[in-house]
Amino acid sequence: MPDYVIQRSKRRSISLTVRPDGMVIVKAPLNVPVRTIDGFVESKKNWISSVLERNADRIVLKESVPYSLAELSEKTKSRIDDFMLNYPGKMPNAIKVRPRKSVWGTCNSKGTISINSFAGALPDELFEYIMIHELSHLEVLNHNKYFWNLVSYYLPDWKERRTKLRRYSIDI
Ligand SMILES: [Zn+2]
Repeated sequence: MPDYVIQRSKRRSISLTVRPDGMVIVKAPLNVPVRTIDGFVESKKNWISSVLERNADRIVLKESVPYSLAELSEKTKSRIDDFMLNYPGKMPNAIKVRPRKSVWGTCNSKGTISINSFAGALPDELFEYIMIHELSHLEVLNHNKYFWNLVSYYLPDWKERRTKLRRYSIDI
């Protein structure tokens, strides 16, 4: 059975979570005996191992490891500038850099692109994918086939890049 930590409180049911660092947390009512909790964890052991396996591939980007948020934003801005020097397509009206928890970039109908401050910490191929994705939205605002055709024009391997990008998460 996996190791776990019990957090008891005035609650009615038992719940189980696996934290990104791999710690298994069981939240339980005050009066439930440990053997009941053991049984509960045992019954979930396959699910727990699948979550742990998935987590093993995950890369969590954090502020201050290795850069502070301000440094990250600067780095991201200069990567964007470098990227735009060679970009031959339609130009945005503005590119903003903002820390976001779960979105790498956005593009609105006014032609303003917003890029996550943490994007500058990604490998080149993933940074490029985010840029091409958002810049392509200047032509096609939704994710229809014309949009993906345009992305493919610049990055024929965009699907692989998108899959790799999904391994990354942001902790802010
Ligand atoms: Zn999009």
